[in-house]
Amino acid sequence: MPTLRLSLPLSAPRTSLLHSSRRFFSAGFSRLFPSCYPRGKLQRDCRRVQLFLKMEFYTGMDKNKAMVEYLQRYGVLRSDRVAEVMEMIDRALFVPKENPPYLDSPMPIGYNATISAPHMHALCLELLKDHLQPGMRALDVGSGSGYLTACFAMMVGPEGRAVGIEHIPELVAASIENVKRSAATPLLEKGSLSLHVADGRYGWPEAAPYDTIHVGAAAPEIPKALLDQLKPGGRMVIPVGDLFQDLQVVDKKLDGSIISRNETGVRYVPLTSRSAQLQNS
Ligand code: SAH
Repeated sequence: MPTLRLSLPLSAPRTSLLHSSRRFFSAGFSRLFPSCYPRGKLQRDCRRVQLFLKMEFYTGMDKNKAMVEYLQRYGVLRSDRVAEVMEMIDRALFVPKENPPYLDSPMPIGYNATISAPHMHALCLELLKDHLQPGMRALDVGSGSGYLTACFAMMVGPEGRAVGIEHIPELVAASIENVKRSAATPLLEKGSLSLHVADGRYGWPEAAPYDTIHVGAAAPEIPKALLDQLKPGGRMVIPVGDLFQDLQVVDKKLDGSIISRNETGVRYVPLTSRSAQLQNS
């Protein structure tokens, strides 16, 4: 295992290549693109390329930890609990080999699906963390790679329940293999984590009601079955829309009434039928 320490700030030069890449990105690169490149996007893209270069100096779990530190510095990852779970579940186990797993970008997992970007995983876990206490129940709709289902399972623990549903059988099979190689494997063996082939628009009534429902694909509107399966006091995070989508945070109050707000604009694959998804694949 490499012994490089990761407690240095991102800006700390570790090698001359990393050092010169920093200078290039912080000074020269921005001047090369004076006005044609939106400033916020330029800074974000510079940080991504920097992270990618930085990652090349680490291996395995060290790279995963460096990604978590990047997300903390980026400001999206705020709580120790979410940082701990993202450190424990190595993202590389959930990303197909040919892709850079720690880059802050969605990556293809086949069948016209993607594993969401690390900052989206971090954001959703932060939004849901109070509803992912030990012993609670979580439903991950469109579980894809299985990454978030594994994180949910670690947070709710062996007394809780984390259910992932995904409508592409091959992705469910692959996600089970991914989880088996991860720190969440004892929870899969125990049965507190399970992954199923099902149409997520109808939820998974067998384990309802849920404290948390996460939807990893964009729905034209919030499916009624999912609202019904949300426990009073529970929270759902769901992207809603077609081309332009909002990540909605939906809370069911104890009296059963619903309040929702838009967290941010997002771009997810659609929550749809299997045949529609596989068209042109
Ligand atoms: N959170 C997952 C996101 C995967 S992308 C991850 O980060 O790995 C969204 C997933 O939703 C895809 O795998 C897609 O196959 C799935 N999906 C789309 N429509 C669905 C539906 N009706 N039922 C179940 N899964 C669906």
